[in-house]
Amino acid sequence: MKNIVEAQNLTMTYRVGKIDVHALKGVSFTIREGEFVSIVGQSGSGKSTLLHILGGLLQPSSGVVKIDGEDLASVTDAQRTDIRRRKIGIVFQRFNLFPTLSADGNLRLAERIRGGAAAGSAEQRARILKLLNLEPRIHHKPLELSGGEQQRVAVARALVNQPALLLADEPTGNLDSENSQIVLDMLKKLNEELGQTVVMITHNPEAATIGQRIIHMRDGRILDDAPVN
Ligand code: ADP
Ligand code: MG
Repeated sequence: MKNIVEAQNLTMTYRVGKIDVHALKGVSFTIREGEFVSIVGQSGSGKSTLLHILGGLLQPSSGVVKIDGEDLASVTDAQRTDIRRRKIGIVFQRFNLFPTLSADGNLRLAERIRGGAAAGSAEQRARILKLLNLEPRIHHKPLELSGGEQQRVAVARALVNQPALLLADEPTGNLDSENSQIVLDMLKKLNEELGQTVVMITHNPEAATIGQRIIHMRDGRILDDAPVN
C-alpha cells in the first residue's frame, strides 16, 4: 500500500503581536492508503493546526508534507489549492453547508468547484449517498435536516472528488451522542467498504477507537502513535 500522508518534521509557529506561538514543534508520521487514524490531544495541543496543514489550508513554517505523493509545503498557494481540490476532502465541526441550497445542490456545487465530475462519479455519488443513508433527504435544505443529517451531507460533499484523503476536525463536536454514533459508524463504513483513507481529530477517547490507529498530540509534539487494541 502506498503512503497517502508523509509528514516530516513539521513545525508551525504563529506570530501573535510580538509573541511566537509554537503550535507544532517537529511532527513526523506516515499514513498508508486505507488507514483510519484518529488524532487526539488536549485543547491547544496542535491538532487543528496539523489537520489544516495536511489539508493544504495552511503552510507549515518548516518541514515536508506530501499528500498522495504531492508536496504541499513547497508549492505556491494556487498549486496547493489545486492539489487540495483533487486529493483532499475536509469535514468540519460546523457543517458549513450553503443554507439556500438543497443537499443535492450542495453536492453539485462542490463538484463544480472541484473541476467537474470525473468519469464514473455519478455511480460513486449514488453509492456514497446510499452508504450515508441520505437518499430520502437529498432535496431538503440544511435547515430542514437534523444536525446528524447535515454532517452526513458535509461528508458526502467532501467525497465528491473521490479524495485520496478524507480529513475530519471534530466531526461530532456539534452532535448529540446518538447522531455522533451514526456519523462515526458511517466514517468507519466508508473506510471499510470503500477503502477511504480517513484522518479524524477528536477529543473523545471513545470516538478515537473507531479507527485503527491513534496519534496522541501534546504541546505541539506526538506523544504516542499506536494501533488501537
Ligand atoms: P487544538 O486543535 O489541539 O486545540 P490548535 O492547533 O487549534 O490546537 O492550536 C495550537 C496552538 O496554536 C494553541 O496555542 C493556539 O492558541 C495556537 N493557535 C492556533 N491557531 C492560531 C492562530 N491562527 N494564530 C495564533 N495562534 C494560533
Ligand atoms: Mg482544534
